[in-house]
Amino acid sequence: MTIETKPAAKKAEKLVAVKGMNDILPPSVPRTDKLPDSALWQWFETTVRAVLARYGYQYLLTPIVEPTALFVRGLGEVTDIVEKEMYSFTDSMNGDKLTLRPEATAGIVRAMIEHNALYNGPLRIWTVGPMFRHERPQKGRYRQFYQLDVEALGFAGPDVDAEMILMARALWRELGLVEGRDVRLELNSLGQPDERRAHREALVRYFEQHAAALDADSQRRLHSNPLRILDSKNPALQALIEGAPQLLAFLGEASLAHFGAVRAVLDAVGLEYRINPRLVRGMDYYNLTVFEWVTDQLGSQGTVCGGGRYDGLIEQLGGKPAPAVGFGLGIERLLLLLQELAVPVPGSAPHAYAVVPPGTALPTVVATLESLRAAGVNVLQHAGGADGPGSMKSQFKKADASGAQFALVFGPDELAQGKVTVKDLRAGVQVLQPLDQPQAWAGSLKA
Ligand code: ATP
Ligand code: MG
Repeated sequence: MTIETKPAAKKAEKLVAVKGMNDILPPSVPRTDKLPDSALWQWFETTVRAVLARYGYQYLLTPIVEPTALFVRGLGEVTDIVEKEMYSFTDSMNGDKLTLRPEATAGIVRAMIEHNALYNGPLRIWTVGPMFRHERPQKGRYRQFYQLDVEALGFAGPDVDAEMILMARALWRELGLVEGRDVRLELNSLGQPDERRAHREALVRYFEQHAAALDADSQRRLHSNPLRILDSKNPALQALIEGAPQLLAFLGEASLAHFGAVRAVLDAVGLEYRINPRLVRGMDYYNLTVFEWVTDQLGSQGTVCGGGRYDGLIEQLGGKPAPAVGFGLGIERLLLLLQELAVPVPGSAPHAYAVVPPGTALPTVVATLESLRAAGVNVLQHAGGADGPGSMKSQFKKADASGAQFALVFGPDELAQGKVTVKDLRAGVQVLQPLDQPQAWAGSLKA
């Protein structure tokens, strides 16, 4: 007779997230990297919603996957994103060429054209969601990252450019950041296409004289898109770029007037900024005003928010010509900055923690908790394992750890009287409250 031995069970292989793509976890889950937790994340989103509502912006959502051609046409072929950062693939079902969106503006413009959204006049809109770029992951730079994206479509005047910038400032203030200290505004004007052409010729002449000093990327771009050289992050090129002809010197009267009008508003509200003639932004679609909010606290990933005017994009993507302006804000970077500065986050602890008895009283307890919740009280109910809720002592420990102000103690003595003990865990005082009228004392838990 042979005895069959079972092979030792093999432990299933551990699967991990794709490199450069992060989990955003609840604050109670410890993590070794410094990524922001979901409480900070939610506070940011709530604040954004409130600030954007004050300016009358409406929310929208567009797909994460778009036709590859949208980005190639929208962002420009000779850009970092299109040349080397896009997650593109072929739909195996029908052969369509698709891309995970690397930024939000092109998709939004596509959607607005598709739905003839500007028919009734201009639009102010915003969205939040993940973007994908195949970059080298590091602090503040990921392969999936989240952006807040705000756009004003159909407005030609400098008033909206200033509104965009001031809206970001309102957000900083609401989040406890100080402009000028924690985040600074950099501003430039890219003028109009004909002005850029003249500047481009001067730029090519200049870089041709210094061609030997250029890196491979820049040499390739010298004739295809020399403006992009100004955007290079290669430290070895910075001095050369510093000496290049400046676009501002090529701007005509109308472009200068537009720039002047934006600056006049910023000056009037006392917002300080630095004019940075090298600020050209990473996409080809920008014209006139461009801006970035930068910080010194995050190393080389110092741009938390960038935007500008893109009057040609809607037409370029097949729509009826209409001007537009917008910005994108990197949410991880901004939250890292808030962490770095130890900005206090409003608490996310529940109002109350319910300490429950084992056995048959549970339905009564739950009915009371449901009434409290209906009255707007945030109650965390202790839930146990298969053997019941566990000892009172261990439940009280959990109540303390939850950060709740109150413990609701549904002990057997209280229940026998039709009551519950409401214990203030911070002040140590306690009172008995009736189980059958939770509405009468719900308010005291929220104070
Ligand atoms: P950078 O110069 O840092 O690469 P960018 O000019 O490519 O930024 P935009 O396309 O203007 O960035 O996107 C707007 C914002 O989104 C940036 O200012 C930044 O805060 C954030 N962002 C861009 N790329 C990443 C990334 N890979 N990971 C995290 N945040 C990012
Ligand atoms: Mg980039």
